Amino acid sequence: MNRENSSVFKAVIIGGGASGLALSIMLAERFGGESVALIEKLDRVGKKLLQTGNGQCNLSNISTDLSHFHGKNANFHNFIINSYSDKIEQFFNRLGIPFACDGDKLYPLSKQASSVVDALRFKLNSLGVNVKLNSTVSHIKKVGKLFEISTLEGIRTIGENVIVCVGGKSQKHLGTDGGSYSLLTELGHELTPLYPSIVQLKTDTAKIKGLKGLKQKVKAVAVVNGREVSSTLGDLLFTDYGVSGNACFYLSSYLTGSSSSSIKVDFCPELERSELISLIKTKQQNCPYLTGEYLLSGIMNNKIASSVLRNSGISSLSSLIGSFDAEKVADCVKGYVIGITGTMGFDASQVTKGGIDTIDFNASTLESKLVPNLYACGEVLDVDGDCGGFNLKWAFCSAFAVSENLK
Ligand SMILES: Cc1cc2nc3c(=O)[nH]c(=O)nc-3n(C[C@H](O)[C@H](O)[C@H](O)COP(=O)(O)OP(=O)(O)OC[C@H]3O[C@@H](n4cnc5c(N)ncnc54)[C@H](O)[C@@H]3O)c2cc1C
Repeated sequence: MNRENSSVFKAVIIGGGASGLALSIMLAERFGGESVALIEKLDRVGKKLLQTGNGQCNLSNISTDLSHFHGKNANFHNFIINSYSDKIEQFFNRLGIPFACDGDKLYPLSKQASSVVDALRFKLNSLGVNVKLNSTVSHIKKVGKLFEISTLEGIRTIGENVIVCVGGKSQKHLGTDGGSYSLLTELGHELTPLYPSIVQLKTDTAKIKGLKGLKQKVKAVAVVNGREVSSTLGDLLFTDYGVSGNACFYLSSYLTGSSSSSIKVDFCPELERSELISLIKTKQQNCPYLTGEYLLSGIMNNKIASSVLRNSGISSLSSLIGSFDAEKVADCVKGYVIGITGTMGFDASQVTKGGIDTIDFNASTLESKLVPNLYACGEVLDVDGDCGGFNLKWAFCSAFAVSENLK
């Protein structure tokens, strides 16, 4: 086995994604670039960051609501999110990236993920961090007070502190196939069950027949074991397997991994039930010559209305509209229940729910309770966030937590 060099690095960071890049810069600013080594499996750092937010990079979210984060150890993230969220914008401003708001979501003003990756890369280089690409870390071993970090390529790096920033199991072509959890499980840490999250959902196909290709602004509610657990207003896009779109991505965090779940869709969120009933009754009075196919025409997307009414079996669409029960029709389009049968899997998902159990990490420093001077940041831990910038928020806040506490 080769020894990369005889240096003992103050910090060896494994994984050049969102958290690893930010942390490398923070630690290089504290200890000097020559004290920091960053080891990345792929041929470039920040490949996943380039894909975030459809190439626009939704870097964070202004919401301070801690319920946007999930994990078995429910409150683990609280201290870190509360302590460091406000620092993300300052950090990027210093790298020449001003922020812009789109609703609650924060983006680089350029709306270009590439500008974020460039800013991180150039800063890293200017600080002289020792970056090793095309290097997959296979083992971390503690030898006395130091760590020996070995790669599949036969390189060994020695460090006083190791920070594992290897991400989760989502989108293996971006360097994250779930194989790197073993770096921490080999050292005694536990892995919680893993599920794809922020992902397209497979549904009961009978309920979406005829809807393929249609996109509609809806209010959608996630229902798990009969309980409404979250709701959102956004686009729902119907596909041949189920649903996609930002409403689906948002609710998927709450639905993935559950054996009995559904979404309840309100196709007319801008109307109260009573207003919709009144519009339907007026239409029935004014246009008795129309058939059911046109009952909701002019009130909502007619193709969606026809499919939904047909799939619900309320009444034959060829019947005259007077034969339809206005209340039943309103309940159908404002509470259309679609059963969830699965997800499109890890390779389609943006984030992994579950990860290394946080019970064995200090909730303010992210140091392992089992192995002193070993830390973990970002998605590798069992913390995931909702769609809307919360996962990068966790990645960057966790980098701050380590950088401020590593001795
Ligand atoms: C398509 C897509 C869009 C997304 N959009 C957003 C968004 O707009 N906003 C948001 O908040 N979140 C978004 N996310 C989620 C967000 O990108 C991740 O949660 C975040 O990048 C996690 O950061 P991380 O540092 O923990 O891991 P990652 O950014 O995944 O980085 C892990 C790095 O470790 C490397 N690595 C893995 N194993 C090893 C090893 N053994 N040795 C060396 N290197 C290794 C990988 O190659 C990778 O570069 C998106 C994700 C995807 C896939």
